[in-house]
Amino acid sequence: MVGAFGGVRGQDRAVALLLRYLESGNVPAGLLFFGEEGIGKEKAAVAFVSALFCRTRGESGGCGTCRDCRVLASGSHPNFLRVSPENQNILIDDIRRLQEELSLKAFSDRPRAVVIAPADRMTVQAANALLKTLEEPPPGTHLLLVAHRMSRLPPTIVSRCQKVSFSPLAPGLVEEIVTGIPGAGDRYPAAVIRGAAALSGGSPGRALEVLEEAEGERERWVRLLSSPDPAAITSVAASWKGAGDLSRKVAAPLSVVRDISLLSSGAELGIINEDLKDALRVAAGRKTPEGWGRAYRALLSMSRMPPQAQKQLMVEAFLFGFHGKG
Ligand SMILES: [Zn+2]
Repeated sequence: MVGAFGGVRGQDRAVALLLRYLESGNVPAGLLFFGEEGIGKEKAAVAFVSALFCRTRGESGGCGTCRDCRVLASGSHPNFLRVSPENQNILIDDIRRLQEELSLKAFSDRPRAVVIAPADRMTVQAANALLKTLEEPPPGTHLLLVAHRMSRLPPTIVSRCQKVSFSPLAPGLVEEIVTGIPGAGDRYPAAVIRGAAALSGGSPGRALEVLEEAEGERERWVRLLSSPDPAAITSVAASWKGAGDLSRKVAAPLSVVRDISLLSSGAELGIINEDLKDALRVAAGRKTPEGWGRAYRALLSMSRMPPQAQKQLMVEAFLFGFHGKG
């Protein structure tokens, strides 16, 4: 069902709160959806708008089939407005344009809803301008602020909104959700998705980012470990220079070396990168099982390095050392 809350997974508390608002007929003018990025806040906000607009709302939100639900889903409902940053931030002009639109008469008899996402990217001036609308919203207008970091919003804005809190999901649920996404579940091996889910901090959105990042990286590392190529080593090391999250950066080489280590000791089961198995088997012959075990432990300790570590030097030392001795 398009737009129904059934599409929002693992956020039962937030959804129950939103349904209570709808049932009571007393929907706040300002709502603040907050929590980690990529865990369903915006999806829930749009589902909430659908339930607000729907003429035949059910227990799980908008019906998804009435005219208002369909027009909203197509992105052209006249009573639905959206404010997002064009570049880095939401600017005061963006808020002024919104206020101008809200000052005009609504086209439809439905309530009006504005989703501002990510609201924590409003400049101070934009937030101050929005405050006026939050204090005196036009009748029948609801402002839905979606924020990944509530602390970045001015307290005056936060205090004007009813808060709807979203929590990180369990890794198992992240894995299940990502597996069900077309282009992800049918593309990556199950164990690779599981690994990304474990690194995602409970966010399906972030798990997808991890998968995309790791995609080319796995093949690249098989090549790097298969033959010494100083230019390739220097180039991969340079790409680590500004890396923020080391555990994410190490994920691809770690999964590759783990598999090779298993293959080199004769194990065939439990290989994560099934799709690369032939290339992994060729690489396995380059070292003894003990040598691969050492490489695996070296990568593990890299993943635990503090953020200020000299990442570029670390990767160079690892790869030149790896090719230098058995
Ligand atoms: Zn409907």
